[in-house]
Amino acid sequence: MSEVLVLVDHVDGAVRKPTFELLAIAKRLGEPSAVFIGASDKAEAAAADLAKYGAEKVYTVDDAEVKGFLVAPKAEVLQQVAEKAQPAAILIVSSAEGKEIAGRLAIKLQSGLITDAVDVDGDGSTTQSVFAGNYTVKAKVTQGTPIITVKPNSANAEEAAGAGTVEQFSATVSDAAKTARIVASNPRQASGRPELAEAAIVVSGGRGTGGDFGAVEGLADALGAAVGASRAAVDSGWQPHALQIGQTGKTVSPQLYIANGISGAIQHRAGMQTSKTIVAVNKDEEAPIFELVDFGVVGDLHSVLPAATEAINQK
Ligand code: FAD
Repeated sequence: MSEVLVLVDHVDGAVRKPTFELLAIAKRLGEPSAVFIGASDKAEAAAADLAKYGAEKVYTVDDAEVKGFLVAPKAEVLQQVAEKAQPAAILIVSSAEGKEIAGRLAIKLQSGLITDAVDVDGDGSTTQSVFAGNYTVKAKVTQGTPIITVKPNSANAEEAAGAGTVEQFSATVSDAAKTARIVASNPRQASGRPELAEAAIVVSGGRGTGGDFGAVEGLADALGAAVGASRAAVDSGWQPHALQIGQTGKTVSPQLYIANGISGAIQHRAGMQTSKTIVAVNKDEEAPIFELVDFGVVGDLHSVLPAATEAINQK
């Protein structure tokens, strides 16, 4: 069976959940092999985690020549691993970085590329949701090694022991790939909440919050949820763009999505309509968001949410 390469998305060696989801997809296509580009002293622990989720092989590449640069060196490293492994497909998380790596890699390998897949079948055909969720596209790469970026929460991360055989891979990075050096980066704000794209529960707020996200954050913390926002809330400066959900923000697909003071514009729906259970709190019973909810509460979020939070905290 051919290998399927999964580029590992990690923070200082801690593998992030979307990578485990990709391993589950990789198993449908062939034999999952993870590619870990990171510090050598973090590789062993990462490989053990990857094996737990089905990685048969883990290529570990020391990041000495990659660290501190933008994505070009990573694309070169992945190209070299791909040329050696001759995989049936390459899967990458659909983040801004992942998509840029995928694009560069597709040119290097002269391969077809599909981005933002929400599903991948065993025969390599993919499903994408386009035009704000109005169309579902089925596509398949017909040239070279299929390179597919997959949105987080598109598959279940399933524990399934793989051999996790570690292969240290030494890659060379050209000077041309080292032209864009990172001079400063803002560390993520440690909110203590789960990462938005990976969270099982998302509590989001819109213009209806009036800029006071206290009730939204209170409910999120009671549920161990991530906080999200509509574009109106982001454009008003109430939340950072990193928390925006929708067509021009993030796509989330949690088990539970609670929209508060959000009207349900098509561009917002595009980022959350695949959530498993949708709840909305809105004081306007005619709000379009109520067309797609499983449970709706007509009321003022500033009184409904604190009451819900209190009830949850008493449990
Ligand atoms: P509004 O539409 O103003 O709705 C506020 C809601 O709050 C209303 O339904 C109101 O009844 C309710 N409300 C008010 N007070 C209370 C209260 N006290 N308690 C309960 N309910 C209350 N939007 C996104 O969200 N994400 C995107 O990525 C995005 N991308 C876009 C891309 C393009 C190209 C365009 C043109 C638009 C995009 N938009 C996006 C904007 C989108 O069209 C809407 O304008 C936006 O989603 C509205 O945000 P909102 O629901 O918070 O605000």
